[in-house]
Amino acid sequence: MSALTPMVDVLGIGFGPANLAVAIALEELAPHLSVAFLEKRLGPFWQPNMLLPGSDIQNHPLRDLVTPRNPRSRYSFTNFLFEQGRLYEHLNLPLHYPLRAEYAQYVSWVAGLFSDRVSYGCEAKAVELVQPSEGMESHYKVTCADGRVRLARALILAPGRTPHIPAPFDGLADPRVRHLNDYLPALAESVAATAGQCRVAVIGGSQSAVEIVLHASEQSGVRDVVGFTRNFGYRQKDTSPFSDEVYFPAFVDTFYRASPEHKARLRRELVHTNYSAADIDVLNQLYVRRYEQSLLGESRLQLRTCEEIQACRPSPSGVEIESRHYLEGSHHRQSFDLVILATGFLDLGQGDRQEPFPPLLAPLVGEQHRGELAIGRDYQIDLANGVPVYLNGLCESSHGMGDAGSFSLLALRSKAIVESLAAQLAASEHRHDA
Ligand SMILES: Cc1cc2nc3c(=O)[nH]c(=O)nc-3n(C[C@H](O)[C@H](O)[C@H](O)COP(=O)(O)OP(=O)(O)OC[C@H]3O[C@@H](n4cnc5c(N)ncnc54)[C@H](O)[C@@H]3O)c2cc1C
Repeated sequence: MSALTPMVDVLGIGFGPANLAVAIALEELAPHLSVAFLEKRLGPFWQPNMLLPGSDIQNHPLRDLVTPRNPRSRYSFTNFLFEQGRLYEHLNLPLHYPLRAEYAQYVSWVAGLFSDRVSYGCEAKAVELVQPSEGMESHYKVTCADGRVRLARALILAPGRTPHIPAPFDGLADPRVRHLNDYLPALAESVAATAGQCRVAVIGGSQSAVEIVLHASEQSGVRDVVGFTRNFGYRQKDTSPFSDEVYFPAFVDTFYRASPEHKARLRRELVHTNYSAADIDVLNQLYVRRYEQSLLGESRLQLRTCEEIQACRPSPSGVEIESRHYLEGSHHRQSFDLVILATGFLDLGQGDRQEPFPPLLAPLVGEQHRGELAIGRDYQIDLANGVPVYLNGLCESSHGMGDAGSFSLLALRSKAIVESLAAQLAASEHRHDA
């Protein structure tokens, strides 16, 4: 196998924005390293199943894949607009932030410039450590779902976070109950299966939940849309500029050094900068939509607040959701053709809404690490085997809010990873030669 399969210095698993930023940083900071990426999608698409018409991005557009690290890079959003010949038209848009459709095009455009380094349709399924032999140092062997194999001296894992499926949906294998990651295709399937009489439930109070409720309620093939949240109402994000300093590079150091108690306190305080809350533009749209509907005597859109989901019972005629109004104690049962879980993603850790390590690394994580995975400031995890593995986009619990699920720190994070990686590989080459 090793004689036939070439070894690369760095193998990236996942080619979403996080590893795309790494690809740029590798090219600009460590061009001597050989690199390959595996991506399970068939092409370079950013969150394609949530590309809703009119939706905008949540990050300042200059916090793109590269600008905060190298504003002169050709891979910036500004240069993308320039090369597309629409810089002036874009700057003249009456928008706070760019459309998600345009940012998705930017991501695909950059990915296209690295297509020689990416294998699409290639889902990494197993990672093994290969011990040194026949003059080869220890390395990783990664096997993909289709049997393709890659060998690498270091890994950068950026598969995106694992969807959070709360009870009572956890473990249900029903195609009518889906995470928001699948929203658009799931809706199309459901509309087709119900001949345009689809009843949709949206669970959660996040930005995505509000966007999906709005989108579904505009579709001609949808008969009813019910949004469920246990909050008193759909809450506005904390967009105070003071709170938004969590997306400053310096905050990563502050958070990383904080004690576990202080980390927990900061996370409690700052949670609504990103979670269980939505931007005011979509909240206002939803509020007006509901009002307008009541004016017209319609009931297609319902918002059930203060409701906790008690049970989910799939049957041939629909998926019954039972919820309880926690203030009144009353129970409500309603059946749906599609239930979308806009319930977020898991972080790393041992607590609620957390998983101890990325599932792909399970075979490498020895018993001694199963309690708490040690993640360095440089995003490297210590697997005590001497072969580097970095986590890219999964480290919110150790590095703070800007370090998962956001573009804000991608460019600087990729610099930290690439510099550490280049130094480590050079040191290991030196040892090997010696
Ligand atoms: C609907 C939605 C909208 C968002 N909008 C914004 C926004 O406007 N601004 C912002 O800052 N953040 C936003 N986010 C947060 C989002 O997480 C980041 O923008 C960004 O996508 C994170 O990049 P990533 O590469 O870490 O993860 P992802 O974008 O999830 O990319 C991970 C990639 O890895 C691939 N992959 C996974 N497992 C494997 C495997 N085993 N083998 C091979 N490939 C694999 C996946 O197919 C995917 O392409 C949004 C998130 C969602 C869900």
